Amino acid sequence: MSAAPRPISEIASFHAHIYYDPATSRSDAERLRAWMAERFSVTLGRWHDVKVGPHDQAMYQVAFAPELFAELVPWLMLNHGGLSILVHPNTTNPRRDHLVDPLWIGQPLAVHGNKLPEQAEREPAPAPNTDPVARA
Ligand code: ZN
Repeated sequence: MSAAPRPISEIASFHAHIYYDPATSRSDAERLRAWMAERFSVTLGRWHDVKVGPHDQAMYQVAFAPELFAELVPWLMLNHGGLSILVHPNTTNPRRDHLVDPLWIGQPLAVHGNKLPEQAEREPAPAPNTDPVARA
């Protein structure tokens, strides 16, 4: 342990990676994406129907500000519908963010840390690009 705890201000933003199987659960992932778009000020990333970067299954990324965590993450716990979701902080160490410090909703999956840098620029909270029409 270090002499002092890490301050929460290290966290510039969060990602939730929504994993799915293109053959069997893409429609579940589509429904969850639509539900989130209607309810939360998040930035929805592109669909990746094939493995990309450190991820071991098809997925899309959801970026959100720390202020949204307490509302979005419990909602995902109740509504993931069996999909695996990786929620990780964005600090300056992507490898640690994904491998050491994340939380999983649903079944945990492999994450290939050798494809993640140990040093990166802070990724600031995204400007919401959705237009929520309903609250959770
Ligand atoms: Zn991420």
